[in-house]
Amino acid sequence: MSENLTGSCLCGEVSYEVTGELKGFMMCHCSRCQKASGSAHVANIFTAPDNVKIVSGEDQVKRYNLASAPTFGKCFCTNCGSVVPYLNGAGNAMIIPAGTLDSDPGIRPQANIFWPNRASWYDDGVAAQHCEEYIPKA
Ligand SMILES: [Zn+2]
Ligand SMILES: [Zn+2]
Repeated sequence: MSENLTGSCLCGEVSYEVTGELKGFMMCHCSRCQKASGSAHVANIFTAPDNVKIVSGEDQVKRYNLASAPTFGKCFCTNCGSVVPYLNGAGNAMIIPAGTLDSDPGIRPQANIFWPNRASWYDDGVAAQHCEEYIPKA
């Protein structure tokens, strides 16, 4: 995999480096991931726990564990709210939110999981027109 794979949160306070093999890439459409992301799905890359090193801002990182589902958690930057890499509930995998990476990780999504739970508007969003930036004013 890429030797210089790095990532950061939106404000840049939390930054990290990834080394080693990326083992999976899942788009999760479950209702928890919709709530946690505020979007249609999360895009999570999996790697071994030791493969992610927080370079800066570790003191800004807070973990949230869902009380009703101990295996569901996330870490985020307390300054900007971006999700950042976190250990899964079982403690055997590091989850890298793909959108926080600075460059192409090489690996590609392997599955859309919890597909029946996808947002009712998801398919329409995929099919909607593609624009360079904002929709030009009419
Ligand atoms: Zn931040
Ligand atoms: Zn999910």
